[in-house]
Amino acid sequence: MIASGSPLHPIAFKDWRLGLDRQLLIAGPCSAESEEQVVNTAKAIDGLGIVKVFRAGLWKPRTRPGSFEGAGMDALPWLQRVKAETSLLTMTEVATAQHVEACLKAGVDMLWIGARTTPNPFSIQEIADALRGVDIPVFVKNPINPDLQLWIGALERLANAGITRLGAIHRGFSWFERTPFRNSPMWEFPIRLKAAFPELEVLCDPSHIAGSRDKLGGIAQQALDLGLSGLMVEVHQDPDNACSDAEQQLTPKDYKELMDSLIFRQAHPTEGMQDRLQGLRDLIDQLDEEVLQKLGTRMDIAERIGDEKRIQQVAILQPERWDSIMRRMLALSDHLGLSASFVAEFMDAIHRESIRRQSGEQTESQSGGVPMDNKNEKDKVLKNEDPFH
Ligand code: PEP
Ligand code: MN
Repeated sequence: MIASGSPLHPIAFKDWRLGLDRQLLIAGPCSAESEEQVVNTAKAIDGLGIVKVFRAGLWKPRTRPGSFEGAGMDALPWLQRVKAETSLLTMTEVATAQHVEACLKAGVDMLWIGARTTPNPFSIQEIADALRGVDIPVFVKNPINPDLQLWIGALERLANAGITRLGAIHRGFSWFERTPFRNSPMWEFPIRLKAAFPELEVLCDPSHIAGSRDKLGGIAQQALDLGLSGLMVEVHQDPDNACSDAEQQLTPKDYKELMDSLIFRQAHPTEGMQDRLQGLRDLIDQLDEEVLQKLGTRMDIAERIGDEKRIQQVAILQPERWDSIMRRMLALSDHLGLSASFVAEFMDAIHRESIRRQSGEQTESQSGGVPMDNKNEKDKVLKNEDPFH
């Protein structure tokens, strides 16, 4: 159930009046570098027969000054040639009202908002105001920092300006810890966004997550397995000599090979499959209930221990005891085929709740708050209770 309160009412690709379907494939170079590079790459991509939309960045938001910042306005006629000479729709990134106006004038078919622009409400509002009254499809990439509210906020500003054909693109997040990827995928973000707005078309940009050709396939497959709506991939006629993101771009030929190697799943199960899934889902529901009942009992016991500690004036936090519990559970996780990181996170959450109960803090339902079962995902996200926020 979708709760009211958000101006965002997403519509599915099939209602975008552009002949788009899941899984939508968008491909093209990171940057538009020259007319020849843009047109040749577009023709090679068009020839593959699987791509609907051609992407190319005209204004490149570079982290440090001095790198190639795009061909800008001069490249708009190149996109017009792509439109005229191929079957592809065209798409580029906008970050200012000036970009928007130039793209609308040149007849660019779709726009996207980049990861460095999404977190800035002033920029988003400026773009939204420039788009008022023009119903062009717009995709919003996630903000560079892991903040779901900023991502939703940007989509809402555009919805308020009257944009109805709105999509999102998951391109990973800047993260302070080293990860094998250029941007951490943090899949929980697109998952939570879809949970809050089930109709929203969320694509994945595996190029900017992976940051290198060899890791692209794994990320793309994960996105499809999760049921995301398609892929935006960087494709360049000569990736090694690209002016930006050379390590992550594919040749049209390698791109086709990669797409052929991926398994494209249906978003929804067929009827026969529904029955088979239902049996398994019933089992899962039953097990989830048992897990919760056991957790309830566990917390009641923790509270009794808390009473005892209070009477004896013993500190609530007993690090050695917790250390031994954690060790025991991690050893067990190995036997049960559960990942150590999952068990550690799960036990950590239990520990935090135990401490809260032993400190005598009230739970939400004890304090007369809104019972959890009356809230759906969207309410929680909109009320800023998102745990990833
Ligand atoms: C891009 O798509 O080329 C780009 C700059 O992406 P992002 O905003 O995701 O970094
Ligand atoms: Mn790029």
